[in-house]
Amino acid sequence: MKILRVNLTKGDAVFEDVKPEYKVLGGRGLTSKIIADEVDPGCDSLGQGNKLIFAPGIMAGTVFPNNGRLSVGAKSPLTGTIKESNMGGAVGQYLAKLGIKAIIVEGVSDSFVYLKVSKEGVEIIQADGLVGRGNLDTIEILKKKYGEKISIISIGQAGERRFLASAISGTTPDFFPRMAARGGLGAVMGSKKLKAVVIDGSGTDGIEIADPDGLKAASKALSKGIMQHPLIPALENLGTAFLVNMINELGAIPTKNFSRGRFDGAAKISGEHMAEVLSKRPNAKMKHRCMAGCLLSCSNVYTNEAGEVVTSGLEYETLGLVGSNCMIDDLDIIAEIDKLCDDYGVDTMDVGDALAVAMEAGRIPWGDGKAALQWVKEIGTEGENGKLIGNGCRVTGETLGVKRIPVVKGQSISSYDPRVLKGTGVTYASSTMGADHTCGNALPSPANPDYNPSAPTGQGPVSKFLQAFFAAIDSLGMCLFASLPMLDMPELQKDLVAAVSAKLGESLSEDYLMELGTMVMKVERAFNEAAGFSEKDDRLPDFFYEEKLDTNGSVFDVPQEEIDAVYQ
Ligand code: SF4
Repeated sequence: MKILRVNLTKGDAVFEDVKPEYKVLGGRGLTSKIIADEVDPGCDSLGQGNKLIFAPGIMAGTVFPNNGRLSVGAKSPLTGTIKESNMGGAVGQYLAKLGIKAIIVEGVSDSFVYLKVSKEGVEIIQADGLVGRGNLDTIEILKKKYGEKISIISIGQAGERRFLASAISGTTPDFFPRMAARGGLGAVMGSKKLKAVVIDGSGTDGIEIADPDGLKAASKALSKGIMQHPLIPALENLGTAFLVNMINELGAIPTKNFSRGRFDGAAKISGEHMAEVLSKRPNAKMKHRCMAGCLLSCSNVYTNEAGEVVTSGLEYETLGLVGSNCMIDDLDIIAEIDKLCDDYGVDTMDVGDALAVAMEAGRIPWGDGKAALQWVKEIGTEGENGKLIGNGCRVTGETLGVKRIPVVKGQSISSYDPRVLKGTGVTYASSTMGADHTCGNALPSPANPDYNPSAPTGQGPVSKFLQAFFAAIDSLGMCLFASLPMLDMPELQKDLVAAVSAKLGESLSEDYLMELGTMVMKVERAFNEAAGFSEKDDRLPDFFYEEKLDTNGSVFDVPQEEIDAVYQ
């Protein structure tokens, strides 16, 4: 495999040999290692010195279950920390098929360009007809030009304008956008004047696998085990939207800007209700695969009554943060907002929390979905309200003088209240990426009834374990939903280790996942310390320590020493 280095200042692209220490890395582990090796932690995130890295996971393009996610890394303009955000879709698998271990984008182009990457090589092409367009138009135009054997990475208007909540899109095999949403990485891509990357994965020789039979056998065993977990049927039938009712029941769904833990309108935005609505609409799907090889089909295709596609897919985080946290209980409006966010290329989570903060400031009535939709439209037209929420929750809250701003290190909190889910709260506080549930979400599980997510003590070690586990999963390029069963059924990890060993031709230890994840966390933490972050930044916003949540009467009371111990 090769590393593709593109220098947009010079306008050149070269393939380089993979350094020996990068050979066993991929996904988040590789993006973070390259950033730590090549980017000055003190650099301006939107300046010449930052680099944007795209890296498929270690297992991309193989028969390993639910894998092929693409990691995107850079120094984040939203948090100032190192950042990795990953997306489903076909892009990771296509890059792996081309033998590309990572693309390193450095420098800044004079004008907007896009890259075309194929087995013939790399072209840097002027993006004249694409500038100012959203992701949906950009995808259509490039598909018309290059046919359907491609996948596309792109930014919308938000990334071009370097809005701090901007995301990077990558296409599914059927050309729906999927987002590397968090951390404002779309703004980094926009700052380099890179509009898109077209990947033509056709006609390649396939993936190098040291022991194909070993990989096949271990992957089969792992897939079988994953499907036996008790939460899998809910995920298969309702997608992540099944969490609306579950987290609402727990009293942990963010409501009215994290001032309550239960939402009266939860049933109307639940997965069960969505399934009922979509069952009557032409062309809708409650099951959709964002990538080839997915076992679970947790995604969906949301259509309107006429059967026109509105968005794919509508997920729990959007339902929680645009829905309950803003007290909006209209699925059609939430789906419209999701579509616009995908098109302009912004993170629905940071935008959802920003809308709730604008409601707290009295700028939008609580629950007024139509007014919220108008604000989101202004991201595309660059209206004043759009500039606010397009730059995320922190900018919105600080500009409007709101005291209760749900962010950690500048990134908005996900759709789980940390006063109930306290292990997740430790992750929000201490992760290397700002508040991010995907770094280590400590949810209760029917397969692990002994875990009490609301106990004030013992959450630090839980979060520490989960943060290492998911740093490794993100490095493999595996979808985290398929990895969840391994937490409750640790015996499956031996199949995972056997599969990775067979792919790499290495005899990996049974602690492989923890060793890999711990290494990744250390690399990222060292970068952040060099960028000026310390333990004092590992704190939740004050109101979580001061205001008792109505549902369990608790504040966030995990001792700070437990949080600080995550990195000791
Ligand atoms: S489970 Fe969902 S997110 Fe994961 S690969 Fe399948 S469709 Fe994509």
